[in-house]
Amino acid sequence: MLGPVLLVASRSDAMRKLVAGAPVTRPVVDRFVAGETLADALTAVRSLTGDGIEVTLDHLGEDITSAAEARATRDAYLRLLEALAREGLGTRAEVSVKLSAFGQALPTGGDDLAYEGARRVAEAARAAGTTVTLDMEDHTTVDSTLGILARLREEYPETGAVLQSYLFRTEDDARALATEGSRVRLVKGAYREPATVAHQDRAEVDRAYVRCLKILMAGRGYPMIGSHDPRLIRIAQELAARHGRKPGDYEFQMLYGIRADEQRRLTGQGHRVRAYIPYGADWYGYFMRRLAERPANLTFFLRSFLPS
Ligand code: FAD
Repeated sequence: MLGPVLLVASRSDAMRKLVAGAPVTRPVVDRFVAGETLADALTAVRSLTGDGIEVTLDHLGEDITSAAEARATRDAYLRLLEALAREGLGTRAEVSVKLSAFGQALPTGGDDLAYEGARRVAEAARAAGTTVTLDMEDHTTVDSTLGILARLREEYPETGAVLQSYLFRTEDDARALATEGSRVRLVKGAYREPATVAHQDRAEVDRAYVRCLKILMAGRGYPMIGSHDPRLIRIAQELAARHGRKPGDYEFQMLYGIRADEQRRLTGQGHRVRAYIPYGADWYGYFMRRLAERPANLTFFLRSFLPS
């Protein structure tokens, strides 16, 4: 019940001010976000890659309202990629991009602006020896994001995509993307979606995840299993073995701060594991989606408001 309420709150400016302004919020945010600065992000990258875990970095920000903000997002990614190249981290660290932070939703020319910004980032990523993955946001953006992905892949075929199993359309999208050289992160989906476009029942979302995973594992692309769910991780291992895929022909991805022990356990077993590291000052939307996924996180957060 609480999940949908928190997802509505994740879009509310009043709640943003209340939550972000509360002094007790910070320690709880720190569990899920690596910090506000590039230096904080690099510290997390060094620590995880030192443990054999690869990373993908997300400079937090979404729903921007001007072209100037879109360019600021692009520039933050260019600085990040410069730093990764300087430190020789390009083989172990890639970047994840939310096109809404690149201007996708601006009423005029949003798609082109987002494409141009992402293209510059893909160019810099290649120069740093790494790749870009386009995160997937709410269902109204899927056609636009897949359109921009197709344009980017003409020049940068290594650009990755994200598919969300809760959407009815996703099996078809998985079939279309299960092709040579195509990198696809499969997730359950983190937004509040209407019953007209998405499964509402968690068991249905899980069943759809397995159907999509079967398509991706049987295909010629590179599946990235974006989940903390032990059952789905086990099924992914079984499907990989059935299709003769070895570790490195697919990878597991988990979020920074979530099931860190499992990330290390899979790495220790020889699997390729990548942690998704968010950093930056605009952490509110990301943080609220993490609270919505798990009531225990909310309890932990609310307890921090009580006097100790
Ligand atoms: P769940 O059934 O939600 O969780 C399984 C178990 O994992 C839980 O029982 C718990 O032990 C643990 N767990 C899960 N979530 C949390 C949490 N917040 N806090 C603590 N423990 C938790 N969604 C998008 O819509 N677009 C994206 O681009 C996107 N990118 C992602 C990238 C990565 C690398 C990952 C891992 C997820 C991404 N997501 C994205 C989020 C995803 O859609 C899910 O909302 C999220 O992963 C939770 O689903 P789950 O598969 O882990 O399964």
